Amino acid sequence: MQEAPIDAAQAADPGVAASTATRTATHCPYCAMQCAMDVVREPGERVSVEPRASAGRLGLCRKGWSAAELLDHPERLTTALMRDRRDAPLRPVSWDAALDRVAGAIRDCQERHGRDAVGVFGGGGLTNEKAYALGKFARLALRTSAIDYNGRFCMSSAATASQRAFGLDRGLPFPLQDIAATKVLLLVGSNLAESLPTATGLLDEMVGEGGTLIVVDPRATPTARRARLHLQLAPGTDLALANGLLHIAVRDGLIDERFIVERTAGFEGARQRVGAYWPDRVERITGVPVADQRLAVQLLAAAPTGMVLTARGPEQQAQGTDTVQAFINLALALGLAGRPGCGYGCLTGQGNGQGGREHGLKADQLPGYRRIDDPAAREHVAGVWGVDPGSLPGPGRSAWEMLDALGSDGGVRALLVAASNPAVSAPHAGRVAERLAALDFLCVSDPFLSETADLADVVLPVTQWAEEDGTMTNLEGRVVLRRAAGPPPPGVRSDLEVLAGLAERVGAPAGAFPVDPREVFSELTRASAGGKADYGGMSYERLEPEGLFWPCPDPDSLGTPRPFLERFATPDGRARFVAVSHRGPAEPLDAEFPLSLTTGRVLDHYQSGTQTRRTPELADAEPDAFVELHPVLARRHGIEEGDTVWLASRRGSAAGRARLSPDTLVDMVFMPFHWSGEGCVNRLTNPALDPYSRMPEFKHCAVRVDRVEPRDPRRSARR
Ligand code: SF4
Repeated sequence: MQEAPIDAAQAADPGVAASTATRTATHCPYCAMQCAMDVVREPGERVSVEPRASAGRLGLCRKGWSAAELLDHPERLTTALMRDRRDAPLRPVSWDAALDRVAGAIRDCQERHGRDAVGVFGGGGLTNEKAYALGKFARLALRTSAIDYNGRFCMSSAATASQRAFGLDRGLPFPLQDIAATKVLLLVGSNLAESLPTATGLLDEMVGEGGTLIVVDPRATPTARRARLHLQLAPGTDLALANGLLHIAVRDGLIDERFIVERTAGFEGARQRVGAYWPDRVERITGVPVADQRLAVQLLAAAPTGMVLTARGPEQQAQGTDTVQAFINLALALGLAGRPGCGYGCLTGQGNGQGGREHGLKADQLPGYRRIDDPAAREHVAGVWGVDPGSLPGPGRSAWEMLDALGSDGGVRALLVAASNPAVSAPHAGRVAERLAALDFLCVSDPFLSETADLADVVLPVTQWAEEDGTMTNLEGRVVLRRAAGPPPPGVRSDLEVLAGLAERVGAPAGAFPVDPREVFSELTRASAGGKADYGGMSYERLEPEGLFWPCPDPDSLGTPRPFLERFATPDGRARFVAVSHRGPAEPLDAEFPLSLTTGRVLDHYQSGTQTRRTPELADAEPDAFVELHPVLARRHGIEEGDTVWLASRRGSAAGRARLSPDTLVDMVFMPFHWSGEGCVNRLTNPALDPYSRMPEFKHCAVRVDRVEPRDPRRSARR
């Protein structure tokens, strides 16, 4: 832990009174911006945080400012918990008793059902060290193929499309500051003003410098309201829009032929395919007027620099990979890649969603973004781990497929969950609850009793955020060091200690699971060396003060802020066009379910809300689930502001307070996904999977308004 006496800061601010307080340079526990902050401990005061300037940025959003409340929270778990039977309550037990029970359940399950009957489900908030160790634990200690993580629900379609088009998936293949410098930004399906709040400053900077923002979104979000042009399309029609924009670019001679010839392959197929997406047809599919389509293309084509950024809107669709590819096709055709101020990028959501998929949390990957079915990759990683490559399992099932088969023949029977809350965050939550209940054994590691932990046989209280050192890889591929600002509460252990304790009990090779994050990071750099996400030249010392961009292959490397300037990471160095076609949502609207439900985030909450619903300032600002709907739709159903609206889909029902807004389309409703119980929108969502990324279609399912409970009961009586 590196702490500076606050007196050291007095040179910068002589007005600061001398004290024995400490100030630790670290990063926010929440989203992929990983904003830099200082944790300040003053005697007799509550721990607080302050923004810290790093990499040209300074600032925190409300979530960041209130993060210190997590550190001494009254609901913090500090004792291992165990239940003796499924219907018995959780009771406090010693760490030895808890770990013995987990190890016993693992051994028993594997003896009876085979190695793959034990599964691991990780989270995109885990540090790189913990993600790496969890992946290694699954493959080396458990020798199971059953591992995946909740990042599969977030960025995997963009990751798959980027691999296909560029040979590399690094969320943004350029520094964040390039966004402020670009002249036209096409932002597709991102409400970053609420999901990555401090990134809003980049948009303001860009516009302030004369840049133009174009937003594609079914809702007029706070982000869309900043745009010069808002393309308000029907949910699930993004691919048709992207193909339509490329059609116009080709037809009007706006493509960059030189860039296409020199740096890409496959254009002809894409050009032919978009021939069928003439503007008035695209207007009929998407609802976006022809004039707006034309203006968007003209703005992008005329600008000296331009960018296309996607987020969960186009990605969380049953054809998310192809949808992202369609926007990549557009960027490539306009020559918007491979030079400063230009490019395609994905706005990662979770704090370490990027690092998690680089270091082995995904079912098909080994550290360094290596494929688990690649013999050379297996040999390299097995060499670092000191095992026979043949002993490593092959690829396993994706997150939803694993959850859907829990407790069944051939499925996982004993599940270890770390830093994830699939009971709330997975699609078709009713089915997930049913499958979790069918498990022989469930163990959850979490600092708080999440909804999933509440179902577990064993709950392990683990360290969080500023109680442990570790690295995070932010949305621009910058690896930053997140420092511990103090010891964890008594009774709490780190995930690394948990894995070491379990590994010893299940007979893994001695010493294979170190508990010191620095030692784990050193091993991770060797395991990633030579891979696509090469951390080989990184060390904790080199990550301060501003982090390093991967690839960083050797100790002399300064990292790679813009990996595509000279060539793309494909075998021939050329980016790939792929011809793609619009199919539409997996679950069309019909007379029984005539409305499109889309899901998303709000400013005051993060993911399944395990932390933010427990932070009073955030919970007070946005206490309950809500259903946003258009006033015209509300009138049709007799709904008034604040009524409780029950929505139903083919999978279940959920409810929220009515929030009437003209910002949404008339035949759609929006619900955020941060709440549990009847406010859990994932009771409704459709687990239809993208065929390539295996990502579920969170962004559209068919629903109806089932019933309305008036806020004022007298209104009900009058009807
Ligand atoms: S933008 Fe994200 S990383 Fe920055 S303070 Fe807010 S939640 Fe934390």
